[in-house]
This record gives sequence, structure tokens and C-alpha cells, in this order.
Amino acid sequence: MLPVERQQQILTWIEEEGALKVSEASRRLGVSEMTVYRDIQPLTEQGKILKTSNGLARVSLPTVRADHCVYCGKGTSSRFAVQIIRADHGVEQACCAHCGLLRYGDAKEDVAQVICRDYLADTTIGARSASFLIGADVRLNCCDPQVLVFGSRKDAERFRAGFGGELYGFDEAIQAVQEEMDGGACCRG
Ligand SMILES: [Zn+2]
Ligand SMILES: [Zn+2]
Repeated sequence: MLPVERQQQILTWIEEEGALKVSEASRRLGVSEMTVYRDIQPLTEQGKILKTSNGLARVSLPTVRADHCVYCGKGTSSRFAVQIIRADHGVEQACCAHCGLLRYGDAKEDVAQVICRDYLADTTIGARSASFLIGADVRLNCCDPQVLVFGSRKDAERFRAGFGGELYGFDEAIQAVQEEMDGGACCRG
């Protein structure tokens, strides 16, 4: 059996059985535990399986908590929901760009990508290249200060001309939301 065939077989077993001991994999495949460890290394690096104290386990589906915002716990069913792709390939959901930005601000090193939806076009866009309009005069019925996301700066500027607010790039937007939150309620000095 080639290493890729053993990998496929190991994946299938873990998929079917939920978990698998390394010794058991070694016995079934007729190879040493060393070889099993070598075989699974790319699988663990790609986040396809987990190495646990007990052996190998299925990566729990990232959608488990996906219906609640990772930051504030609100539902994430609206079209303003933001997806945060972690460096370890897990996916988190935020209810809106407000929480998406704050979450990113908290966990920068662990985040590979932030995916938003364009407020007007309803298309998927990467947050780093998006424009953020904060404090516009519309109701999203989510978190304050409200953050609207636009893929095109031009659209964002046109929208701001009608509805007001302040326009930011990604990093500035994180700062702006953080500052407004810090300045709010309990901590105003
Ligand atoms: Zn939230
Ligand atoms: Zn929200």
C-alpha cells in the first residue's frame, strides 16, 4: 500500500468510527506505529484529523457553534453575518461586521481570513480589501455602532452621501469600533 492509500484508509476509518488508536491503525495496516505517525502528519497539518492523547480523532465540524455569534452570542442567520476563517481551519461566525471586526481585533494571530457580504450587492468579499461604513442612518437591528460593508469604495462613498456615517478601511474600522466601545457606557473617564 502506498502512503496516500494508507492515509485514505485511515481517514475512512476515522470518518466511520469517529476515533482510532495509532496502535490499532498500525495493526490493521500491518505497518509500524512510526509509519502511521508519518502517514498522518500531513493530515493533521491540513486539519483533516486531530491527534489526541488517545490516538486519532475526527475534527469536529466547525459549524457546531455557527448559529451563534462568536463575539456576542446573537444569532448569525442574517445576511450581515461574517465568517472568520481561523489559521487552524476552523470557522467562526459573527452576527455582523461589528462583531467580526472586534473578534478579529482580539484574535488577529489566529485568523487567516475574514469573509463579509457586500451590503448592496450581497456578494462575498474579503474584509481586508473592503470599505466599512460606521454609523450610517439605517437600521440593521444588530450591534451598535453599526458597521456596513462594501466591496467597492465608490459604492460606499455614494451610500455615505445619502445615509451619512464615517468610511474606513479594514484596520481603521477595527480601531474605530474598539474606540467607540471603549468610550461607551461604563468606562468613559
Ligand atoms: Zn455579534
Ligand atoms: Zn451584530
